[in-house]
Amino acid sequence: MSAATTTTSARPRHLLDFTEWSPERLNAILDNADTMLQVLDRPVKKVPALQGMTVCTAFFESSTRTRTSFELAARRMSADVMTFAAGASSASKGESLRDTVEVLTQYKVDAYIVRHHAAGAAHLVARYSGKPVINAGDGRRAHPTQALLDAYTIRQEFGSLEGKTVAILGDVRHSRVARSNAELLPKLGAKVVLCGPATLLPAELGTLPGVTLTSDPQAAVRGAHAVMALRLQQERMGGGFLGSLQEYADTYQVNEGLMQEAESGAIVLHPGPMNRDVEISHEAADGPRSRILKQVENGQAIRMSVLYHLLVGRE
Ligand code: ASP
Repeated sequence: MSAATTTTSARPRHLLDFTEWSPERLNAILDNADTMLQVLDRPVKKVPALQGMTVCTAFFESSTRTRTSFELAARRMSADVMTFAAGASSASKGESLRDTVEVLTQYKVDAYIVRHHAAGAAHLVARYSGKPVINAGDGRRAHPTQALLDAYTIRQEFGSLEGKTVAILGDVRHSRVARSNAELLPKLGAKVVLCGPATLLPAELGTLPGVTLTSDPQAAVRGAHAVMALRLQQERMGGGFLGSLQEYADTYQVNEGLMQEAESGAIVLHPGPMNRDVEISHEAADGPRSRILKQVENGQAIRMSVLYHLLVGRE
């Protein structure tokens, strides 16, 4: 495995969001994911890069793809993995996040991967653990490795993100995936169009550079190279955001009809989990434009690359 691409800007200690990350650092993560994909293609899918290190996954919210791919990514790089199951821990007895982190630090963990329903939870773990922290989703705020794997999947398809347009449709308001993509993709040269019913489209996101908002799905998708459908985050909604699910699906569903408006080679993305025939049709999810399973495959390589970047080669 080759060493991380050399870049000149300071290397951030954590991946909490993209605030501290320069485009060249972000491109280095994407470049190194190519190497990680090659490792995953070998008969022996293991490299010694993180030998002797322990990575703790602390998930206070449910997850399928993110947790499994982080755990596999760490193991592929020879790290020990400690899985902290929040639901079965003293967190459910009222122990605070700070106290929980202070307990975990006694085990000499080298890095934490944290998912929590509260925005800012990963920052708090970074403060109290003193070790590199990767945010695996904090409330509706950020999910940076999801955005990185989305960017990687688009780049894999078109060679570059420069000059590309990515339309993201659905429950933008409650989506950490939309926020992280709106922060990341313009840094890499792409334009982002966020689209959803006005109640699910926070105006402040339209002030981000390279980001525009619309409630018109046809206009959003016109000229797009990638179209991402977002799940309605019912667990973060207090009600009153939608008329009816059917009405929502009739207007905002990503389906073959809507995809006719996009660029001819446009691809369909979804961060998962999908609610088929609500935000995305069966045909669009399984059709030739879909790169949804590619996103899952790329997720493991991106997470290996992020771990490598944060943990290897530091003084
Ligand atoms: N898996 C993504 C997340 O954790 C998207 C979703 O749950 O809808 O944010």
